[in-house]
Amino acid sequence: MKRHIVLLGPPGSGKDSQGKRLCAYLGVPIISTGEALRDEIARETGLGIRFKEVISQGRLVPDTDMYELIDELFERNNIANGFILNGFPRTVPQAEFLDKFLSDKKMKLDIALNLFVSEEEILRRISGRRTCTICGEVYNIYYSAPSQEGICDKCGGKLSQREDDKESSVKTRLSVYNDLTYPLYEYYRIKCLLVDINGEGKFGDVFCRIIGVVDD
Ligand code: AMP
Repeated sequence: MKRHIVLLGPPGSGKDSQGKRLCAYLGVPIISTGEALRDEIARETGLGIRFKEVISQGRLVPDTDMYELIDELFERNNIANGFILNGFPRTVPQAEFLDKFLSDKKMKLDIALNLFVSEEEILRRISGRRTCTICGEVYNIYYSAPSQEGICDKCGGKLSQREDDKESSVKTRLSVYNDLTYPLYEYYRIKCLLVDINGEGKFGDVFCRIIGVVDD
């Protein structure tokens, strides 16, 4: 079974929700850099304040700041049985850093899962995404709408759209993805770690495809 996992895929490909389900299935932590950064913003930490603007515009936080954050997130989580990395690496230099970082800890990656989804589907998923401002539950107004518009089914909290899910930021995120993140596929393909997974279709079907390769 593979337990040292990187999740790749464009914004809106389902990495967050599939990653959460996979972490419960494997019993290993998920380390999501996007979520960690949103938490830094909410807590108004130095990092959060410095990069709030960059993140809301859909641009990338500088690599050196990301390396410090990764170090901290690995310290904070119990990775004895493995981990799922979501949102990191996002550039080839970050992937090189990760290789060295893991090898210093006597670990290495088992697999890089690439969830691929058409651009049309990505735009629909991102534009429809709404998150509970209280408990963080994620909905989609097209696919998994709450029973009452704008209100969380779980806790009654107000739903809002992520700042970087708004149209102009999405364009930047997709172009950053194409320019900087896409080359990662070749990086992991050469190392024979890349597995492509069709991220379209029902949530449960996509999850079955994922565990099919992780359990192998
Ligand atoms: P995500 O939730 O993974 O889509 O990340 C949201 C935002 O956080 C991204 O658009 C970036 O601004 C920032 N971010 C997350 N992970 C990274 C990373 N590995 N490198 C640089 N910026 C990141």
